[in-house]
Amino acid sequence: MNDASGIFDVAVVGGGPAGLVAALALAEAGARTALIARRQAYGDNRTTALLGGSVGFLEQLDVWRRCVDKAAALAAMRLVDDTGRLIRAPEVRFTADEIGLDAFGYNIENRDLIAALEARAAEISGLTRFDDEAEAVHPGDDAVEIRTAGGAEITAQLVVGADGRHSLCREAAGIAVSHRDLRQAALTFNIGHLRPHKNISTEFHTPHGPCVFVPLPGNRCSVVWVATTREAERLMSLSDDELSEAAERQSHSILGRVQVEAGRNLFPLTIERPDQFASHRVALVGESAHVVPPIGAQGLNMGLRDAADVALIASDALSRDEDPGSPVVLARYQSARRADVASRLIAIEVANRSLLSDFLPLQSLRAAGMHLLGSFGPLRRLAMREGLAPTWKRVS
Ligand SMILES: Cc1cc2nc3c(=O)[nH]c(=O)nc-3n(C[C@H](O)[C@H](O)[C@H](O)COP(=O)(O)OP(=O)(O)OC[C@H]3O[C@@H](n4cnc5c(N)ncnc54)[C@H](O)[C@@H]3O)c2cc1C
Repeated sequence: MNDASGIFDVAVVGGGPAGLVAALALAEAGARTALIARRQAYGDNRTTALLGGSVGFLEQLDVWRRCVDKAAALAAMRLVDDTGRLIRAPEVRFTADEIGLDAFGYNIENRDLIAALEARAAEISGLTRFDDEAEAVHPGDDAVEIRTAGGAEITAQLVVGADGRHSLCREAAGIAVSHRDLRQAALTFNIGHLRPHKNISTEFHTPHGPCVFVPLPGNRCSVVWVATTREAERLMSLSDDELSEAAERQSHSILGRVQVEAGRNLFPLTIERPDQFASHRVALVGESAHVVPPIGAQGLNMGLRDAADVALIASDALSRDEDPGSPVVLARYQSARRADVASRLIAIEVANRSLLSDFLPLQSLRAAGMHLLGSFGPLRRLAMREGLAPTWKRVS
């Protein structure tokens, strides 16, 4: 397959973090890859806690050295019950050294991660960039035809749909998606603070959702504050001084004086799951394949495992002269992703619902579970390992 003719083994649609990583991994694995993605400034101030094998995978792709200086190690995580309820859970502290690691992972601003991915993408031969949008995607028997907004015609045996939650590729493949509005929203902003965070991420569990302070380099943290939609909108409308004060209060002043930085974003929370991860020569990665609330920092970590799996499965097929978009190869991808994504979705749902519930027996169960986690080492270590990535599914 050659790029001059506009014919490729694989075309990746979408240049968010999941799409860029998928395109890099596919091209590195030897697939002739097209990346259809507009080069644009990253539009929000989200950060990502890269956990488990995600950093190793970025090292393999020669991306990590380009962003390591902008990331903060996460050496410990504290879960603090701040519900003020009658039945409260004890504090649970997870430390990476308990499972033989220096850090659970690293927190980095998405715009820095994207810049590093873009820099690497510009270097790789075998990756052809179309700085454009896919306007039409037509899966056929032998290949998929893509037309871009700028009029380019691209043909590929496999399309990787990394085009986010309103995925055109998913629609073109006829994959239905279920959507549930959680009636919660996440407010994101970054703060500077007086006291050092000591590389500890602290999550306060409020009756409306978690509020987490995640270390960034220096005396800075990113804040993800999950609340009811109305409360999140109220927080969003505060002045910088008022929000600084509110964040300091919510953090119980553990970081000392807090000053919010410029820029904040509000994300309505939903859970979205497609019926299938692949069909009609289209494989879904990232948020086209799963949208989850920011609880336990799972979303993009799953997206990177999608990217790793699709690259491995497609390149393995190509090395055996198999058609990477054939039903049998897509079925391999489907089975590689199903259990990982389903298990994360269930864990996130349970964590969120048990926190929001007013049902006393459920609150007691949650408190007992947290108590067990805090006091029983083997269970705590299992939870830490599973939180990083499912044991049967390590990326690196
Ligand atoms: C508040 C918050 C905090 C989070 N924190 C974490 C965390 O700590 N750890 C973690 O793992 N995850 C986290 N997540 C999840 C993570 O942010 C997402 O999983 C991730 O950003 C999704 O990346 P993506 O590439 O799949 O999608 P997107 O970033 O949405 O990228 C999709 C891209 O496709 C492009 N596109 C769309 N249509 C087309 C088309 N037709 N042609 C070409 N391009 C197209 C879009 O322009 C966009 O650039 C968080 C999410 C939220 C909301």
